[in-house]
Amino acid sequence: MNKSQTNLDILRHSTSHVLASAVLQMFPEAKFAIGPAIENGFYYDFDLPRTLIPEDLEILEEKMRAIIKANHPFERAEISPEEAMKKFKKLKQAYKVELIKELHLSFLETKSPIGDLVSKKVTVYKIGSFVDLCSGPHLDSTGEIPFDAFKLTKISGAYWRGNEKNKMLQRIYGVAFETKKELNEYLHMLEEAEKRDHKKLGKELDLFCFSDLVGPGLPLFTPKGTTIIEELKKEVEKICRHYGFEKVSAPALARIELFETSGHAKKFGDELFHVTSDKKHNFVLKPVQCPHHTQLYASKTRSYKDLPIRYMESDKMYRAEKTGEVGGLSRVYAITVEDGHSFCRVDQVKNEIKNMVNIIKDLYSSIGLWDNHWVSLSVRDYDHPEKYIGESSDWDTCEKMLQEISDEMGLDAKKQEGEAALYGPKLDFMFKDAIGKEIQIPTVQVDFATPKRFGLEYINEKGEKVPPVMVHRAILGSYERFLVLLIEHYAGAFPTWLSPVQVEIIPVSEKFNPYAEKINNQLSASNIRVKISKESATLGKRIREAEKQKIPYMLVVGEKEETNNSVAVRSRKEKEPADAKAMAGKQEVMRVEKFIEKILEEIKKKS
Ligand SMILES: [Zn+2]
Ligand SMILES: [Zn+2]
Repeated sequence: MNKSQTNLDILRHSTSHVLASAVLQMFPEAKFAIGPAIENGFYYDFDLPRTLIPEDLEILEEKMRAIIKANHPFERAEISPEEAMKKFKKLKQAYKVELIKELHLSFLETKSPIGDLVSKKVTVYKIGSFVDLCSGPHLDSTGEIPFDAFKLTKISGAYWRGNEKNKMLQRIYGVAFETKKELNEYLHMLEEAEKRDHKKLGKELDLFCFSDLVGPGLPLFTPKGTTIIEELKKEVEKICRHYGFEKVSAPALARIELFETSGHAKKFGDELFHVTSDKKHNFVLKPVQCPHHTQLYASKTRSYKDLPIRYMESDKMYRAEKTGEVGGLSRVYAITVEDGHSFCRVDQVKNEIKNMVNIIKDLYSSIGLWDNHWVSLSVRDYDHPEKYIGESSDWDTCEKMLQEISDEMGLDAKKQEGEAALYGPKLDFMFKDAIGKEIQIPTVQVDFATPKRFGLEYINEKGEKVPPVMVHRAILGSYERFLVLLIEHYAGAFPTWLSPVQVEIIPVSEKFNPYAEKINNQLSASNIRVKISKESATLGKRIREAEKQKIPYMLVVGEKEETNNSVAVRSRKEKEPADAKAMAGKQEVMRVEKFIEKILEEIKKKS
């Protein structure tokens, strides 16, 4: 924890005392439990005579501001446990009494010499008339809390000491910052995160669903969701093919021995799915692709002239993880992983890694995330070499090489000790999404160990059999996780090239359905994803619906458009009310051919 973080924690915890003091003013019979600082704020648990309602929070905030303005000092006192017990019994603070009893017991049990040195006193803090049992530290006085940089955010139930056998208390959560600006930024971020929640948008935009009969943690992708994934796949594979990767395909099943050899059986342990049959089959579902790829490599004798050999595969892998959040894609049992490996000679490793970094750069630039990234050079935990496989000299070589690559490519990678993979160091790429949340997705890893474990080899220039080096790379992580990122990053308004429906044709009345059909056919023939809005709802309602679906372009067609073989183009960016008059000025009328040309250009540029 750095220094400023500590200061912020003190501020937040001090604010929780002020909240407790405000609660005491509102409910003189309130009983107090605990009130620690947490990420972005604090909470305090209370036993109150009635259930709190959201309106109470505003009243409490007002009282808190008054306490802050009164600038009460935090008065600290050290008293004996016996004295403290008497004091809090008198105040009828049963929870504090329970805490003091425990503290007292722990004092008595401390027999070490250090224990004899500590005072064995408990500390109490007083602000105004409110006394609390607390070890501190706090600010000097309530006046140091910025009165406009905190907010009480929610009320929830919490068992005393987190034990469901105990009484359910009421917990008030708050957030607190050093400035009003930081508070507002945080509140804005929360609001945005809620608006962009992938579970909410995934449902509204009809991208994926779940079925009880299929099972939890097993998402089903709708035609729209599948379209996005397929478009991404095409783009990734196109870029990778440019860098010499060839697509391969391996089954989901394999004998456990494959993963025992690779070390993944041990690594994944109870996260492996075992598949058996009455015909004595005994397989596991692949948790990673790498071991299958080693067997493709091993299928032939390889010469130094054949290397590098680069495989890529986008396939589902299965991990029996703990069930995560319901209805979301963040943690699922089946993940579609875009995975690639290069088998190469030692003298080629550097170039292979550079290639992979370029692939990552190309893709993330095309979706507008590259400008906001940093790179981690994830190395060993030097104090615990036993956590890794492979030879220490190989590790030294790899770590040095990654550092050189970072320097030569201007990656400015930051060394992070203890973040390496089991078999080698790696470069991890971190991005910030639209609301500033940091995400780590692509990674490039050097691996001397796996080829040796599988006995992979090639014949070098001297005619000797030597092991190749394996470089692993993941560009999107999994498509599921990447879709979460994209949904939240774009708030569902995907760029045209990724949009499941790129154009919606909206005839002003049924009379123009045939003309709409004609344009529909023209656009389809140019590989544009298009649909016609044929519902009987009003024009305004249909436009609003298309806007809600975040379709990039709406083509409104009527009498005038049909006569001129044109369309009135309404793009997603305009949020004006959809009444006919307001619309008139917001639409650009153009010939159908011109529109096709324009949108194809946009799709091609991925802008
Ligand atoms: Zn305290
Ligand atoms: Zn791999």
